[in-house]
Amino acid sequence: MAYDPNNIFAKILRGEIPAKTVHEDEWALAFHDINPQAPVHVLVIPKRPYVSLDDFTSHASDEEITGFWRAVGEVARRLGLAESGYRILANHGANAHQEVPHFHVHIFGGRPLGPMLVRPRG
Ligand code: 5GP
Repeated sequence: MAYDPNNIFAKILRGEIPAKTVHEDEWALAFHDINPQAPVHVLVIPKRPYVSLDDFTSHASDEEITGFWRAVGEVARRLGLAESGYRILANHGANAHQEVPHFHVHIFGGRPLGPMLVRPRG
């Protein structure tokens, strides 16, 4: 799948759409999710254009991958979640219901988060 430069996170990166930023460095931008699923729900995205984790881990440099994942840990610490605990999640593709085709890691925290996955009905 080719990267769509008009996806919503690309627009946030270009400053065309506002976001509540919590961290920015050379490798990553972190901002609050517009529809939070937990008391703390922050998204961390790489600065460069990757569709998903699959694209990122196939094509990003070692330096970029290291910088990005360091930023994820740093953001969680900065949000005060390292003591109480948090969950990270990245959706890739149709089965995971990925909505925005720019790689992003969700950070959830601020309360006990329950089971890892919702069980299908029936
Ligand atoms: P996905 O399902 O792709 O893993 O998650 C996409 C996430 O992006 C969702 O949690 C959704 O609420 C969030 N989101 C979608 N549009 C916007 C937006 O314009 N701004 C922000 N901050 N988050 C958004």
